[in-house]
Amino acid sequence: MMNPLGIYLHIPFCVKKCDYCDFLSFPLIDLYQKEKRMEEYLDALKNEIRTRSRGLKNYRVNTIFLGGGTPTVLSGSQLDQLFSVLHESFSVDENAEITMEANPGTLTKDQLSVFVARGGNRLSLGLQSAQERELELLGRIHRFKEFEQSFFQARAAGIENINIDLMSALPGQSAEDFFKTLSTVLTFEPEHLSVYSLIIEEGTPFYERYRKDEENRERGEIPHLLPTEETERLIYHQTGEILNRAGYEHYEISNYARKNRRCRHNENCWKRIDYAGFGLGASSFFDPLRRRNETDLEQYIKAGGLPPFEEEISLSIREQMEEMLFLGLRLSEGVSISEFEDKFHQSPLAVFSKTLKKYQSTGHLLLQDGHIFFTDRGRDVANMILADFLL
Ligand code: SF4
Repeated sequence: MMNPLGIYLHIPFCVKKCDYCDFLSFPLIDLYQKEKRMEEYLDALKNEIRTRSRGLKNYRVNTIFLGGGTPTVLSGSQLDQLFSVLHESFSVDENAEITMEANPGTLTKDQLSVFVARGGNRLSLGLQSAQERELELLGRIHRFKEFEQSFFQARAAGIENINIDLMSALPGQSAEDFFKTLSTVLTFEPEHLSVYSLIIEEGTPFYERYRKDEENRERGEIPHLLPTEETERLIYHQTGEILNRAGYEHYEISNYARKNRRCRHNENCWKRIDYAGFGLGASSFFDPLRRRNETDLEQYIKAGGLPPFEEEISLSIREQMEEMLFLGLRLSEGVSISEFEDKFHQSPLAVFSKTLKKYQSTGHLLLQDGHIFFTDRGRDVANMILADFLL
């Protein structure tokens, strides 16, 4: 029987860099001879897919995810070429989930029609906020009107599964500001929502602007512009309640979906199902092997997409166990005790006995019906608790 496989393709270009972003992406305005650079990158990427797929013939692809960066900086014909190579190189399930990330202001009818013709069935739109002030503050290239256009264009092209990305905990943002965005977005009736808190990352313009504020917040002092921890928690908690009432399942710490609309690609990653990442800095997982591609654009292009991996680790049994808890607990159904036992011939209740007891007694974790999972209270502080599972 063929094993299931997820595929991730990384397109590391954006129109311009957002002020908070530390993802592996390059602003096209800074790239000299940008058309040429993009073509060179795509040639390297196609070569990587063709070559590496030869060793993956015992897999059947059930999810494909085009991420970035901004995949929608590619033209329709460049997208078409990428899909051709994918379909020539892999056996892709008829009902595979095929997602493309798109930024409002870059999505065109041409790209959409190629995407749909090639089996694309899920779009992830990076809106982040429905408030003009916040979009400007984040350094996004789009305005709300462009999001509206992109959303309806996607629906008109026949895409019935749309995710919207939102960000909370922005500088100067009150809980009311965020909930205004949320209620605006709900009027569009997307199938899926991802809501992440802003993280101030080193090396970004935001770090220069808000570093002191962030340090104050970490010390428990009241920040000047960033929301307090209490506001962040309140936003997180009420978002769950609002979306629950609106018919969304809170199936992962930051993700909400209508019935049968979970993101299968990400869900498989949290369940530790194998995936192959292609492109600059892309990660792959072939249990127990984790790999990361080269992150230097010049090196990647020069080596035709096949430079040595930048990182390659074979996880020890202990690390695999930690991962199974760390990733599995992100999902609402948590970790299956029998699946853990089948894989490791040990019970998670014994391996993680101290940590489990601690968080059961505080009411953050529950053991029920053969699963370990977060209570609502636990999910509010999940990231802190998850760190405790690293043995
Ligand atoms: S569009 Fe996304 S990847 Fe590109 S700069 Fe903005 S946040 Fe980063």
